Amino acid sequence: MIFTHQEISLSGFIFLLTIVLFEIFFVSRAWCRFLCPSGACLSLLGMKRIWRIRANKNKCAGCQKCRSICPYGLKPDQMEYYNTLQGAVCDNCGLCRDVCKTGAIYYNSVSI
Ligand code: SF4
Ligand code: SF4
Repeated sequence: MIFTHQEISLSGFIFLLTIVLFEIFFVSRAWCRFLCPSGACLSLLGMKRIWRIRANKNKCAGCQKCRSICPYGLKPDQMEYYNTLQGAVCDNCGLCRDVCKTGAIYYNSVSI
C-alpha cells in the first residue's frame, strides 16, 4: 500500500498527539522511558554504570518525597534493582538524594 504525503502527515500527527496525551494523562516521560531510540541506547549503557543511587531502608521514614521529585516516576526508596529497567532509566540526577531529609538515599559504587 502506498501512502500519500497527506496520509503520512496525518498519521504522524495522530501518533505525536497520542504520545503527548498519554504523557499528560498516564505516564510522565513515556517517550523518554519507552520509545526514544536514543534513550534506549543510553539506558542500555546505564545498566552497566558503576556509580548508582542506592537507598538504605533502615533510614527511610516513608515520606515518599523522593518518589514525587523523580523526573522518571521511579521509586528511589527501593533502589536495589541494579540491572533492571528501572535502574537503567535512572540518570543519577541526585534529586531524590537532595530531597531526602533522613540521608537514606546515597551514591554508591557497584562492582561489575
Ligand atoms: S525521601 Fe528519604 S525518607 Fe522519604 S521515602 Fe524517600 S528515602 Fe524514605
Ligand atoms: S537519581 Fe534522579 S532519576 Fe534516579 S531515582 Fe533519583 S530522582 Fe530519579
